[in-house]
Amino acid sequence: MPVNEKTAALLERLGANLVPLVLIRREILSRCIIELEFAGPVEDLVGKPGNDVMVDIPTTDPDVQARRRYSIRSIDVTQQRMRLWIETSSGGPGATWAQQLPTGAAIEVIGPRGQISLDLEADWHCFVGDMTFVSAAYAMAEAIEPPGQALFVIEVEETEDLVLPQLGDDIAVTVVAVDRAGRLPNDPSGLLAAFAALELPELDGHLYFGGELRVVAALRNAAKERGLSDEQISSKPYWRYGVANLPHGEPKKDS
Ligand SMILES: Cc1cc2nc3c(=O)[nH]c(=O)nc-3n(C[C@H](O)[C@H](O)[C@H](O)COP(=O)(O)OP(=O)(O)OC[C@H]3O[C@@H](n4cnc5c(N)ncnc54)[C@H](O)[C@@H]3O)c2cc1C
Repeated sequence: MPVNEKTAALLERLGANLVPLVLIRREILSRCIIELEFAGPVEDLVGKPGNDVMVDIPTTDPDVQARRRYSIRSIDVTQQRMRLWIETSSGGPGATWAQQLPTGAAIEVIGPRGQISLDLEADWHCFVGDMTFVSAAYAMAEAIEPPGQALFVIEVEETEDLVLPQLGDDIAVTVVAVDRAGRLPNDPSGLLAAFAALELPELDGHLYFGGELRVVAALRNAAKERGLSDEQISSKPYWRYGVANLPHGEPKKDS
């Protein structure tokens, strides 16, 4: 596909591809998660479970660019399909795009992107975060070699809106759904309490944290206080409470 110079430079810098896709299906999985399924040459997006794609999101001002990143929920190269799970409670441009994009719409995504993937050496895997993280968390968990062990601690506004992971029989699964109970989404206390109460298996495991910036930072500190090493922790802030993500799709960090 011909691309302009700026996009070509971006693709080269990211080591990613620009891939044309068509939305073929939208499904509401729960009150806060929409699944979008796209068709196209998805072989160009194959990377590692936990990778994401970057999407250009239209805004009300045509001169303002908003890119948003969404973790690849699954890729099926034979069927030429890719699925995304998008949390819709932000009401921001990304959530609105996911709710309104008509089936049949053609889009372009840049991917695969992202540094965090499954630690293949780990004996167990523990995923902690909010609903924006379940797509990456479940995609990584589905790559665990059986027999294996996956633990999930997920905070959600209403626990009945949590979509549960479906893993094979040889993977032991623990799911702790944390009710946000009216706390602000950047209040880490709910996830911190659930993580502190969670008995981690013996042997060497890996922790994966994703979600709101302040919450992810607090979880990382808690894991280190609990004796886990930097090498056992992968964390990524996905968004920041009260601040829209920056035009390149990352949450604004304090300088
Ligand atoms: C590597 C990476 C992977 C990601 N993967 C996913 C994914 O698989 N699925 C997914 O849904 N998101 C994912 N995100 C987050 C996503 O890119 C957007 O940040 C998110 O969808 C919000 O974008 P927006 O345009 O709707 O709102 P923004 O314009 O970013 O924000 C608008 C307002 O809504 C608030 N807000 C933003 N998100 C939330 C929220 N979840 N709950 C409450 N308030 C919110 C903001 O604080 C702001 O005040 C990922 C982000 C990164 C960096």
